[in-house]
Amino acid sequence: IVQLYVPLNWFGTYYRAIQKNFVDMENMFDLMRVDSDVKDAVGAPELLVRRGGVEFKHVSFGYGPERLVLNNISFKVAPGSTVALVGPSGAGKSTIMRLLFRFYDVNEGAVLVDGQDVRTVTQVSLRANIGVVPQDTVLFNNTVRYNIQYGRLEASSADVIAAAKNADIHDRILTFPDAYDTQVGERGLRLSGGEKQRIAIARTLLKDPAIVLLDEATSALDTNTERNIQAALSRVCANRTTLIIAHRLSTIIHADEILVLKEGEIIERGNHEMLLAQNGFYASMWQQQLEARNNNNNANNNDNNA
Ligand code: ATP
Repeated sequence: IVQLYVPLNWFGTYYRAIQKNFVDMENMFDLMRVDSDVKDAVGAPELLVRRGGVEFKHVSFGYGPERLVLNNISFKVAPGSTVALVGPSGAGKSTIMRLLFRFYDVNEGAVLVDGQDVRTVTQVSLRANIGVVPQDTVLFNNTVRYNIQYGRLEASSADVIAAAKNADIHDRILTFPDAYDTQVGERGLRLSGGEKQRIAIARTLLKDPAIVLLDEATSALDTNTERNIQAALSRVCANRTTLIIAHRLSTIIHADEILVLKEGEIIERGNHEMLLAQNGFYASMWQQQLEARNNNNNANNNDNNA
């Protein structure tokens, strides 16, 4: 009994940690094969993905009965377009991602993919069509090759290399001691945040899903790394329905729609120009980020002059 109890308990803890942090949701299900709270409906069909349109229809949700975390949220992500979620910490951005991935079921309303309620289709088929690039990718204790190939296990070595090149990580991998055969993860070579994110991008390119969920890293990366990651990210989003949690507003000025969330409600919505013209919450966030950047630049200039 003790032997059985310990690992089960550990799975539970790990499961909750991942649920909470929106870390590698894709991997987690395969790794643990634990029961989650959501169940497939009896005889549920597979999701039929045509172009990957996403719709939230009057969605309300709370993790417990005492408090709603999302309140009557409605928006559409047209096939191939990009919608960005911004807003203060705790506003409900990650929760929206978790509901689309069907980590939890909504209390009211519905989440639809190509017109199908996510509660009516199998979870496996839903998740097979969604790629996730999390803020902090947890790598498997395995080779770099395996970590990329995980996106599509039957992919050839040439496909893995092509994906790595597209994600701007190929050249870096060639500098590792055993190139693609280098062991990474907790017990292998430790990679930087930017490198791990590019591995996740390569994995997602290989998976080739219709829908991509991105959680932009909050930690500041150096300008060069930042530029490389932006290029790789735009390749992973191209022609895919994309939902992105953005922390730096400069990365989403071209998004088709920006949803400004606050305390579980959409308080402003529109594209970058429209939101600036409104001179509201988004415009003040933008001002703040501009000022922070100018202050940084001035500080750097002063350093250079010293
Ligand atoms: P951040 O930018 O800090 O990641 P966010 O906008 O993504 O914030 P969410 O993670 O969606 O915010 O959280 C929305 C609210 O739900 C917060 O008040 C948070 O404390 C609460 N919450 C998040 N996960 C859970 C959970 N597993 N159980 C209970 N409450 C939760």
